[in-house]
Amino acid sequence: MEILKTPAALKAALEIFKGSVGFVPTMGALHIGHKALIETARSANDAVVVSIFVNPTQFLEGEDLNAYPRRKEADEKICELAGVDYLFYPDVADMYGRDEVSLSAPDVRGYILEGTSRPGHFSGVLTVVNKLLNIVNPDRAYFGKKDAQQLMLIETMVSNLFMNVEIVPCETVRDDDGLALSSRNVYLSAQERSEALKIPRALKRATKLVMQGELETGRLQTEMLAVLEPLEVEYAVIVNRAFAPVEYVEIGHTIILVEAVVGTTRLLDNIWI
Ligand code: AMP
Repeated sequence: MEILKTPAALKAALEIFKGSVGFVPTMGALHIGHKALIETARSANDAVVVSIFVNPTQFLEGEDLNAYPRRKEADEKICELAGVDYLFYPDVADMYGRDEVSLSAPDVRGYILEGTSRPGHFSGVLTVVNKLLNIVNPDRAYFGKKDAQQLMLIETMVSNLFMNVEIVPCETVRDDDGLALSSRNVYLSAQERSEALKIPRALKRATKLVMQGELETGRLQTEMLAVLEPLEVEYAVIVNRAFAPVEYVEIGHTIILVEAVVGTTRLLDNIWI
């Protein structure tokens, strides 16, 4: 595995590589969810590039940018063992200059749901993903369905800007107890972690009701909110794949999303049905 720090060094290494390239962008503190993305990329490409970059422009004032877990050595080992060919580890100064051209998230879909509680977050995400895709120029790039709104906005950007990359959505990996894996789970105390399990339980409850024939989203939402009690719920909503709210679930076209704050940690989860 080659570890490269600057965009120029990674570009130079990839320029002489002739096969297909799969790319997995991350913010590090890698877990089995990231590993699953890497393995999916490994199975479909001649080379795999992973980036580890805690992107400052997607953190709002007062968020956990400085506290975000950083695990350089462990991450390197995970990448090495997962068969990564190129690990890209840039510093902020390698990625951003002064007085830059900016990229904005769409006015509506970038500012609903997670974009309501984190205005501007998705502009930062799209900016860095655009930069990373331009550096790596991969055939395919892999993103988790766990961050469903992020995935939808990246697909929108790739389509709007006519970018030449296939975006591959990957299933959410969960711990044995059902909690979706996230680098931010390390912030949870044992007590908070058990409270957090209400999130996957609420999604499971809604899914079960759908399977039993309850398709009315208002009723499903009420049931989810009851399971989530007494968590601070940012949203528990049911949308179609374009992220518009729907009155009735249409199986194969619906996403149920929950965001809740447990202690001081904001947790996201969803189920695609
Ligand atoms: P992050 O390092 O949190 O920015 O995540 C990097 C990528 O891993 C994103 O595409 C995430 O959606 C994806 N990811 C994070 N957690 C999971 C998970 N539990 N299962 C699958 N993919 C995940």
